[in-house]
Order: sequence, then structure tokens, then C-alpha cells
Amino acid sequence: MRKTLYLKFLLAYFIFGFFGFIIVATFVNSMTMEHLKRDEADSLYKEATLIANTYASDLYNNETSLDTVKKQLDALDTYLSANLWIINPSGRMVLNSKAPLDVENETVIEGFDPTVTENSYYTIGNFWESFDEDQLSVFAPITSDYKVRGYVVIHYPMSNIVASCNSLLNISYLMLIILFLLSMIILIFFTEMVYLPLRRITEATEQYASGNMHYEFQIDSEDEIGYLGATLSYMASEIARSEDDQKKFVANVSHDFRSPLTSIKGYLEAMLDGTIPPELHEKYLTIVLNETERLTKLTGSLLTLNNLNTKGMLLEKSHFDINRVIRNIAASFEGTCRKKAIAIELILTGDELFIEADIGKIQQVIYNLLDNAIKFSHPDSIIKIETTEKHNKVFVSVKDSGIGIPKDALKLIWDRFYKSDLSRGKDKKGTGLGLSITKEIIQAHGEHINVISTEGVGSEFIFSLPVSDEDNDD
Ligand code: ADP
Repeated sequence: MRKTLYLKFLLAYFIFGFFGFIIVATFVNSMTMEHLKRDEADSLYKEATLIANTYASDLYNNETSLDTVKKQLDALDTYLSANLWIINPSGRMVLNSKAPLDVENETVIEGFDPTVTENSYYTIGNFWESFDEDQLSVFAPITSDYKVRGYVVIHYPMSNIVASCNSLLNISYLMLIILFLLSMIILIFFTEMVYLPLRRITEATEQYASGNMHYEFQIDSEDEIGYLGATLSYMASEIARSEDDQKKFVANVSHDFRSPLTSIKGYLEAMLDGTIPPELHEKYLTIVLNETERLTKLTGSLLTLNNLNTKGMLLEKSHFDINRVIRNIAASFEGTCRKKAIAIELILTGDELFIEADIGKIQQVIYNLLDNAIKFSHPDSIIKIETTEKHNKVFVSVKDSGIGIPKDALKLIWDRFYKSDLSRGKDKKGTGLGLSITKEIIQAHGEHINVISTEGVGSEFIFSLPVSDEDNDD
């Protein structure tokens, strides 16, 4: 494909040149010839008419001598480079500028017929075989007493007209060659701006097609081709990134599945072969149960993530009271909080605060944030959940005074499977998927989530939601 595009353009270029040549050689040639013939005939006709009305009619009226008229015709012959005749309607030659006066031997043009010109005033040919080569012969009648007495005929060699036509055509050919060479500029532009960048793009697509998504190329133009190149390169980098993500994801999933499975297997084997005595079975079965719970949670989170991605996050939006959702979730954590002596303080704006969102998914967000806050809080501390309304948005904040997040981990907490070193001791069941699910849900709503945290002091997660336009309850 690459080679033929260039060849096609070259072919088009030469076809352009070839047709240009044919057109000059045919149309331009015949048009120039026609124009020169008509032009010459016009000016000769004017001369002929002038002679017919002056010397020639004087001659027929016997007001001047044959000699005087002959001299005038001879002068004009040299001036016009033409042969001038005065001829009777019968075809008898009265005067010929190219021959001396000879009254005795008169010349007669056999078959002379002045109507040969039909509607025009000139004819082309050898004038009833009077010449060896073709002539342009212009007729002007000499009239006196309303009768045609004779004709002034001026013969001009066609070879002269053909010669001037050829010299004009030479100029046309020269112009055509100059134009053809100039149009090479288009060819150079095409090569530089279309062909070479396109070749680079094709090479890149071949590389991508063979799986080398990290192949880099650059097109330094800001036109459509440059845009195409940039888009392609961006697409490849995105595919490469998602491939890398995919690999990382699979590696993380296998790792997260393997460690609980290994410990479950280890404990069960130890119980079976008696390494763990029966009286300790309950303790180790509880650990095994915890590990299976972790696996269940991991599977659940993976399924949620998968659904979020495949559906392009299809939201079932409804109109509901966020305060009520928060109260219900806080109540469901009561047991866990009591065990750790943690208090949840709700600072909610108004009795009811209606928003427009996917209730199930927002419940999951609040659940994840509160679950983390409890997990990473010290005993005897307070967790505050606050709702505020500002600029048509509802802001929900979940704030704890727990272990906090190290500064360099702040950006990473949203990544799938990320668990900070600090949290590992506190949260053995964590999957590192909660916050990435949370962020995807909030972003699908077109909203934002942020975290403010200081290590050893505590963390605050804040996200926004759109206020509902309707003011009745759900
Ligand atoms: P997990 O489900 O394991 O808790 P998350 O994605 O919810 O995973 O959280 C990722 C990491 O972010 C946690 O392992 C922890 O290090 C950190 N993190 C999240 N919330 C808090 C918090 N409230 N306080 C301290 N660290 C937190």
C-alpha cells in the first residue's frame, strides 16, 4: 500500500503532464491557427477594400493608368509580404504585383469563381492551381455603377501563418514545461507532508499490530496527519498502559488469593496431622474462618469492580435523603464500634438532605469510608460524619483521628490493591480495593473525592454529590 500510493500520485502527475501536452498540441494549436488566419484575413481585407475603392476603381473608370496602379501594388506587395492581384470577374488577370506588366500575354485563371468564399471574404488553397503552396486569398470587389467590375485579391502564403503559429506554440510548450516543473513543488509537498508521515504511521501501526505497544514515533506537524499520529500514539500508550494494569491486576489478585489459601491449607494440614493439638483447633479454625471471610470479601470486591468497568458504570439514579442513609449505615456499625469503644458523631445539615444519585452505590461508598475509619482508628476515639450544602452540592465528610496516611502514600491509596505498610498490622482482612471502588463510583457521578490526612493524627475523606432539584422525599 505504501509504495503504490506514491506511485499513484506520480502517475497522476505524469498523466497531468501528458494531457497538458496533448491539449497544447491539439486544441491550443487549432485555436491559435484559427485566430491567426482570421486576424491576417481581417487586416488583408481592409487593405484589399481600400485598394478596390481607390486605385482599382480609378483604373476601371480610366482615371489612372495601369502603370501607376502597378507601382502602388508593388509597394504594398513589399510592405505586406503578399501577392496582390486585380482580376476580372471572368478570371482574366489585369494586374499582378509579382509579375511585370505584359499586355500582350494575358493570364486567365481557369475556372475562377468569386463565390468560392461563400459567406466569408477569404478562401484557403492554391487558387485554381495558380500556386504551388496553399495561400490565404482575400477578395474585395471593385464596383462602379452598381456593378462588380473586378476583384482585388491578396494572396498571403499559409506557410507564413503556420510559422507564426508554431512560434506561438513554442511559447505555450515552454510555459507548459515551466508549469510542469513548478507543479513538482506539489509533489515535494505531498512527499513531505503526506507520504512520509503516512509511512511513519503505517510503520507504527505494523509495530502495534505485532504487539509492540511501546513503539514510539513522532510527527511534527499540526495538521490532520499530525493529529492522526498523535491520536494513534496516544491510543497505543493507553493500550500499553491498560495491558500493564491488567498484568499488575492479575499479579495482585493471584497474590491476594494465594496468601490466605496458603495459611488455610497450612493450618488445616497441621490440624489433620496432629501438629496442632485438638484443644487448639478452635483458635486455628477461627483464623481459617477469618481467612475465608477475607477471600469472600476479595471475591465480592472483584465482582463489584468488574461490574463497574463492564457496564461503563450504569447508574440507577434516584432522589433520596443522604442523612437517612448515613444514619442507617452508622447504626449498622454500632456493634463493631462498641467493641473498640469508638463513638460515631453525626453532624448532619438539616433533618433531610435530598440528593440525586445511585443509592446502592453511594451506600457502598459511605460503608467503605466508615469501615476504613473504624479499622484505622484507635480505641476510645471519635469518628465524625458531616454533611454540608454549598453551591448546589452536598459535601459528605468522614473524619477519624486514627493512624493517618503517610504523605507519599496519599496518591497511592486510590490504586487497586494498595495497602499502606502502616495498615497491614491493623487490617489483616483488607483487600486494597475499597478506595478504588469508591473513587470510581464518585467519578461516575461526575463528582470528586479528596483526602486530607496526617500520619499519626487522622484522616478526612470528603466527597461531593449533586443536590436534588425535587424537594419531596424518596
Ligand atoms: P482496604 O479495603 O484494604 O481497606 P482501601 O482501598 O479501602 O483498602 O484502602 C487502601 C489503603 O488506604 C488502606 O490499606 C490504608 O493504608 C489506607 N487508608 C484508607 N482509609 C484510611 C484511613 N481512614 N486511615 C488511614 N489509612 C487509611
